[in-house]
Amino acid sequence: MGVEAFISAFVIQRQDSLPGTLCSLTSAKLNNLGSIISYDAKIDKEIDNRLSDASSSFGRLYKRVWKNKNLRATTKTRVYRAVVVTTLLYGSESWVLYRSHTRLLERFHQRCLRTILDVHWTDYVSNVAILEQAGLPSIEAMIVKSRLRWVGHVHRMDDHRLPKIVMYSELSSGYRERGAPRKRYKDSLKRTLSACDIDVQGWSDLATDRSALRCRIQEATTKFEEERITAATNKRLRRDNPTQTPTPHPCRHCSRICRARIGLISHERACRQRHGHPLDLR
Ligand SMILES: [Zn+2]
Repeated sequence: MGVEAFISAFVIQRQDSLPGTLCSLTSAKLNNLGSIISYDAKIDKEIDNRLSDASSSFGRLYKRVWKNKNLRATTKTRVYRAVVVTTLLYGSESWVLYRSHTRLLERFHQRCLRTILDVHWTDYVSNVAILEQAGLPSIEAMIVKSRLRWVGHVHRMDDHRLPKIVMYSELSSGYRERGAPRKRYKDSLKRTLSACDIDVQGWSDLATDRSALRCRIQEATTKFEEERITAATNKRLRRDNPTQTPTPHPCRHCSRICRARIGLISHERACRQRHGHPLDLR
């Protein structure tokens, strides 16, 4: 009922705004139970909205919970997960996320946990260590879990239900914009399934069995989080102990040594003009 009412409201709003300018059409957005859905199908506004809501709910508990010395850290993280994380990830199962969005959400998660655990940036504690200390998974793992549960739920719905029709249907006409194609829900779901080692072709058979799917999701998200932690740890190690030094790129006009080729090209252009060298056409 909620979704049907929402879609008809959206259609009404679109019809109202049709005689207006293109600007009013492209900026059209609708607030459905606190979720912002933009006309251009981008989730930037929704992410901003979620971050601001979660941030205000975090702020409201600042003195009473996070800085309360009579509460244990485990109690605080449980309250954080129940109040702040649920506000932050409301409706996240249907988001089509880009890397930039995940980064924003993870940054917020880390900032909150560091406040709760009273860890300052000068303590040099890694993000992985913070999550381990808090006993919480990353935001990405939570989103993966909720997305897989949601698609299983939609798959088991009757064929006439609107969410199922929307998930399995395609537009009969229209064109895609120039440049890189916009990511679709289908694309992000495929990526999630392959990241969790679930067969992309055979996931629908798995989704029909609710308890089997639940076990598989649990295994998959645990594995996903382990792999994410290993990748993050390796990246940190590589950054802290660089084994291979980059090849230096010396300038042909002066003694300056650039670390990257792109820097050398830019430097040589300026250097030629400064020293009055003739244009090198090599
Ligand atoms: Zn030079």
